[in-house]
Amino acid sequence: MAERVIKDEQPRVYFDCSKCPAYCCSVYERVKVTKRDITRLAKHFGVTYEQARFRYTRLRDGERVLKRVEDVVFHETCTFLDQETRGCTIYHARPGVCRGYPGRPRCAYYDLLRFERQQQGDENVVPLVQITFREVKDVVVSDEDSSEEIYEWGGEQDKDADKNE
Ligand code: SF4
Ligand code: SF4
Repeated sequence: MAERVIKDEQPRVYFDCSKCPAYCCSVYERVKVTKRDITRLAKHFGVTYEQARFRYTRLRDGERVLKRVEDVVFHETCTFLDQETRGCTIYHARPGVCRGYPGRPRCAYYDLLRFERQQQGDENVVPLVQITFREVKDVVVSDEDSSEEIYEWGGEQDKDADKNE
């Protein structure tokens, strides 16, 4: 008879959200919501779809996102974060993107937190980070022997800065 293998269905993860100040709820300016997310919020709060959309979401660059508020730790955070416990106040009704995050066994922000706490020798320190996104172009450079794809980091801003030097 074949040996029975009991598998743990929960994938192993290397982060602990209960020990994190909720970077993911704070550093991203957009937490995207779908119609299904708004329906879930409406059900959770016992309001209509339109009320939930108006109260808890807003349009940002044509995208519907959760509202944000000033935060005691970061510059801003999600309107649904408990700023004292750093936990989600609508955990069972949170949007799909929150459910899927970070979508891998490690969380880069948790690794950063652990790294800095060890570096600083202080288990209470919180490294503050801000994340912005910038488009870079990839270009192919070639010589007679080979060609390779590289990223062109210098943008218009850099060119202006060069001119002013
Ligand atoms: S940043 Fe990472 S560790 Fe922190 S709450 Fe979000 S998923 Fe959890
Ligand atoms: S809904 Fe909850 S999990 Fe999602 S960003 Fe807001 S506080 Fe974080």
